[in-house]
Amino acid sequence: MFMQEAKELTVERSTGTTPTKGYAAKAASENLVPFDFERRTPKPHDVQIEILYCGVCHSDLHFIRNDWGMSIYPLVPGHEIVGKVSQVGDHVKKFKPGDTVGVGCLVDSCRICPSCKDGLEQYCSGGFVLTYSGYEKDGSVTYGGYSNQIVVDENFVLRVSDKLPLEKVAPLLCAGITTYSPLRYWKIEAGHKVAILGLGGLGHMGVKFAAAFGAEVTVLSTSPNKEQDAKKLGAHKFAVTKDEEQVKKLANYFDFILDTVSAPHDYNMYLAMLKTSGTMVCVGLPIEPAVIPAFNLVFQRKSLAGSLIGGLPETQEMLDFCESHNITSDVEVINIRDINSAYERMERNDVKYRFVIDMSTL
Ligand code: NAP
Ligand code: ZN
Ligand code: ZN
Repeated sequence: MFMQEAKELTVERSTGTTPTKGYAAKAASENLVPFDFERRTPKPHDVQIEILYCGVCHSDLHFIRNDWGMSIYPLVPGHEIVGKVSQVGDHVKKFKPGDTVGVGCLVDSCRICPSCKDGLEQYCSGGFVLTYSGYEKDGSVTYGGYSNQIVVDENFVLRVSDKLPLEKVAPLLCAGITTYSPLRYWKIEAGHKVAILGLGGLGHMGVKFAAAFGAEVTVLSTSPNKEQDAKKLGAHKFAVTKDEEQVKKLANYFDFILDTVSAPHDYNMYLAMLKTSGTMVCVGLPIEPAVIPAFNLVFQRKSLAGSLIGGLPETQEMLDFCESHNITSDVEVINIRDINSAYERMERNDVKYRFVIDMSTL
């Protein structure tokens, strides 16, 4: 899914580089440490962005540990980036210095395959370029947003409103679009009974969007102490998935389940909570494969599907929707020196509900 290859294509080359400061993991599972590197100076279609805030996604942790076998070290994580444009290339039309902008999980794609033509760059068949641990078309490795600046082609830069607090906007660039996109694709609206499985970074945004779209929202959680938060975030109901009685009561209840869980769990238990013709969509990416008997789908025509982030047009739509509906992430802003303890807390499920790095602390 994320497989990419360094490609030799006809590409514009940068004429120089800019010294850049960041934090990187030098090898699998090592702590992040300060890391100096070079980024290209803007090419004609590039935007250079001074990074103000960067969210901390559970995928950053999967990458640092090489959970998915595709990490490139040194690895500078970060794909929930918000900042100000500091410089633009000669041909840039959409942005000017001083604009507030965002960058999510992708910084390029083939741009010619059917998915790219449809604005679904996340499903690019020619090979998209991840914001970090990816290869640019000129073969250079990408470094992410735990850094003071980034240079990105204008087509992969999003407009961000100044009306919302920017530290709370940063997580929309991954956690936001990853939950918005499937809820939109499966046309969630009033009358639907929706479950959000796992109340973390993705899950808390899923609750906000599903409630904004008019659905009845239930949070399914392993953490009984999150009930009050779930209701504050907009959930109507809350169930503890370790409690057999509560699980039994939800049999055949939901039209739609959005599964955001990062750790191994029993998909079959949740499939049993779907109504006839209901759909469960995985966005969480545990490493281990799951065993799902066909019986659990065939009887009652249930669907199990997946969804990956969102394309550029839909990411802009989501940011605009958040501006007009005053939706942002619930965040704890951290100093970049505390990033390793933030990961420890994320592993202990002690995040409410997204860490965001204040990049002025770099
Ligand atoms: P997170 O903030 O750590 O939240 C994950 C939540 O999963 C936790 O808050 C917890 O919620 C629940 N959980 C943890 N361990 C569990 C267990 N053993 N059994 C059941 N539930 C458990 O992580 P995140 O940043 O939201 O990311 C979640 C997953 O989505 C990660 O695997 C990440 O890589 C993936 N992701 C996918 C995409 C995509 O495009 N598909 C994009 C971004 C991230 P409760 O306390 O409520 O149980
Ligand atoms: Zn992410
Ligand atoms: Zn493509």
